[in-house]
Amino acid sequence: MTLHPPRRVDTVWNFAAGPSRLPDAVLARAGDELFCRGADGAAAIERPFSGPAFRKVLDDARVHLAQLLDVPDNYRVLFLAGGAMHQFSAVPMNLLDPTRGLTRVAYADSGYWSRRAMQEASRYAQVAVVARHADEKPLSAPTAGDWHVPPDCAYCHITANETVDGLAYPEWPDTGDAPLVADATSCFLGAPLDVSRFGLIYASAQKNIGPAGMTVVIVREDLLRRPARAAPSPFCYRLQAASEGGVNTPPTLSIQLAGMVFEWIADCGGLTAIAAINRRKSDLLYRAIDSSGGFYTAPVAPGHRSVMNVRFHLADDRLIEHFLRDAEAAGLTHLRGHREVGGLRASLYNAMPLAGVAALADFMAEFQRRRG
Ligand SMILES: *Cc1c(COP(=O)(O)O)cnc(C)c1O
Repeated sequence: MTLHPPRRVDTVWNFAAGPSRLPDAVLARAGDELFCRGADGAAAIERPFSGPAFRKVLDDARVHLAQLLDVPDNYRVLFLAGGAMHQFSAVPMNLLDPTRGLTRVAYADSGYWSRRAMQEASRYAQVAVVARHADEKPLSAPTAGDWHVPPDCAYCHITANETVDGLAYPEWPDTGDAPLVADATSCFLGAPLDVSRFGLIYASAQKNIGPAGMTVVIVREDLLRRPARAAPSPFCYRLQAASEGGVNTPPTLSIQLAGMVFEWIADCGGLTAIAAINRRKSDLLYRAIDSSGGFYTAPVAPGHRSVMNVRFHLADDRLIEHFLRDAEAAGLTHLRGHREVGGLRASLYNAMPLAGVAALADFMAEFQRRRG
């Protein structure tokens, strides 16, 4: 049963936190290229992963990603099966190194996903919490200075952008000798990133890269020498790097689409251009919230607000269901906040155009006129 008249697809804007919207150009290209059989009798999604056609897709994707991020030569780029949560375990399994006295792990607590990462890590080693965000409002990321990472910690982990809490680090902490490891899932490729500041960066695909099922891991080569005895082969970075990602069948569909997304970003002018558009999008929305006279509120301090996941509340919580219903009727979907924190959230990943954000800001002003 439909309550609303059907509308044209391009007038509906999907603000989901993930899996999220893909660029229109990529959807169109995928339809043309992935599902039609070629001269060898195989459609792109049917090709064997060890054959030359798929190897070229994989190599091109790796090269394009390395170009976008300016990845230094001493790092390896891996496309692994599974999501960020697989990496919550893979990171400690690969990086702990009892032979060198690295028997603990350090984490910063910045919100929901960092705590989930810590929980998983605590199954493999004792976790030292080296930084925390303040619990009072407005919320902010842990401050970057004064992190004392104990010398027996194999690495220090941060969640670069907290998807649920809507907050992000304004600057990266200095973790001394401990390699900095970042879960960059929800901000990856939203802006340039200085890879050389990190020992390891991972990001699952379905936020800002492509469809679910694949995680990008960028790892500094010296970390591949750690023993990783407990890591199952598909999650062993050293084995995957040595076999060029061929230990097991890689998520071929996700990798092909990710490759198209990397090319789309280059066509948009690269990460600097993408970051400028993303900044305009989130500025527009935060301005709409801050200028509402308290009808809408943002719980995160300016300077720590996520560019990707804009979290906000209604001063009168009872209006939430009305807001969501009217927004959907206006073609603005998936705006409910994460169940853990409530409220509202608009995810503005790369594929969300400025027009979609402007439509949301207009709707918010109109809703306030009717209900304020
Ligand atoms: C979505 C998300 C995850 C979980 O990713 P999965 O691919 O579902 O495992 C982890 N970390 C962050 C920051 C996320 O946004």
